[in-house]
Amino acid sequence: MVDTSSAAHPSSALLPVFARMDLAFERGEGAWLISTTGERYLDFGSGIAVNAVGHAHPHLVAALQAQSEKLWHTSNLYQIPDGERLARRLVENTFADTVFFTNSGAEALECAIKMARKYHAASGHPERYRTITFEGAFHGRTLATLAAGGQQKYLDGFGPKVEGFDQVAFADHDAIEKAITPETAAILIEPIQGEGGVRVVPTQCLRGLRELCDRHGLLLIFDEVQCGVGRSGKFFAYERSGIVPDILASAKGIGGGFPMGACLATFEAAKGMTAGAHGSTFGGNPLAMAVGNAVLDVVLAPGFLEHVEKIALLFKQRLAELKDRHPRIIAEVRGEGLLVGLKMAVPNTEMTKALVNEHMLAVGAGDNVVRLLPPLIIDETIVADAIARIDRACSHIEADMGLNQKKAVGA
Ligand SMILES: *Cc1c(COP(=O)(O)O)cnc(C)c1O
Repeated sequence: MVDTSSAAHPSSALLPVFARMDLAFERGEGAWLISTTGERYLDFGSGIAVNAVGHAHPHLVAALQAQSEKLWHTSNLYQIPDGERLARRLVENTFADTVFFTNSGAEALECAIKMARKYHAASGHPERYRTITFEGAFHGRTLATLAAGGQQKYLDGFGPKVEGFDQVAFADHDAIEKAITPETAAILIEPIQGEGGVRVVPTQCLRGLRELCDRHGLLLIFDEVQCGVGRSGKFFAYERSGIVPDILASAKGIGGGFPMGACLATFEAAKGMTAGAHGSTFGGNPLAMAVGNAVLDVVLAPGFLEHVEKIALLFKQRLAELKDRHPRIIAEVRGEGLLVGLKMAVPNTEMTKALVNEHMLAVGAGDNVVRLLPPLIIDETIVADAIARIDRACSHIEADMGLNQKKAVGA
């Protein structure tokens, strides 16, 4: 049995900010990870929604290998043709007119927040710099994105919170309207909250936000770092709502495992971002651009997103059956596409541990949720396998509960 106790490795030279499991992997193949001890694990965590097309996808491997033999890095002092191409493809397939590449999700959000402030400054209103965000949000770990996320446990001990963020209750339209002041620049929201517990923002709320932004001259920023690039069954989750944002932050799945992110925007929203206004040494580097283009080759191939929607529907149906069979374990199945959350009736950590014992990986989230984030390439066989493992994990937790009850009665 795997030791899932989260004690830091006593001899580790790594900063102990992660409570790591005692589990390491050597190789991956599609939806499978092979541990250093040779055991196979079904990966329904995808490195937290990152390995969108699975591990060691031959097309991505070939793209990275070919690029690695030609050129790794030049900086943004020069043209990067593959970056031009990737930006063009993102523009052609979204609301956006222009793209800035980053190395991470938090940096994509930093760009988005700066862009919104600069937009108002360029419009003659530098006093409009505040961003409205939502309770339960997660936008990253830099000082500004922590302030945007507003989670006290992540802010504690790091000095004064970065100014300019006003947090309101999740999907509370009246609270949002009340929070708007003459200093407000933007509203920032995850269309589907990931870390917060796979909470889907209702379509009418997203439409309401668009309407509020239009009425008050605010920019609407979507954080699609987790829910974008096919995860929701659409290329970007906003497509479900029938409205478009002004700015969108992407990362995680967009690099398929290569560290990269992107900030997408309309020309209007980006009008303040002129030469020198922002930058990054590594952002849009040739290795990242080669892999990013390869990810889009797969995700935008005809039929791929339809496949995601279809397999997600099957998965959710089978999960609903499991919930009916194990009502004392699973309270609710939620999410869109392959961004799935199981709201647990027992502590979510018990479920993730029980799944590891079944050699299946999932990721915890807020609101006592277990996230199931398989690579988007899974098929019916993998779904059946996953369901069998989750079923067994539930049965084991039930058996333990029964034992504990007997013990209590016997005592
Ligand atoms: C992961 C995540 C981020 C931060 O991305 P990093 O690459 O870790 O900086 C921001 N927003 C959302 C919605 C995320 O899920």
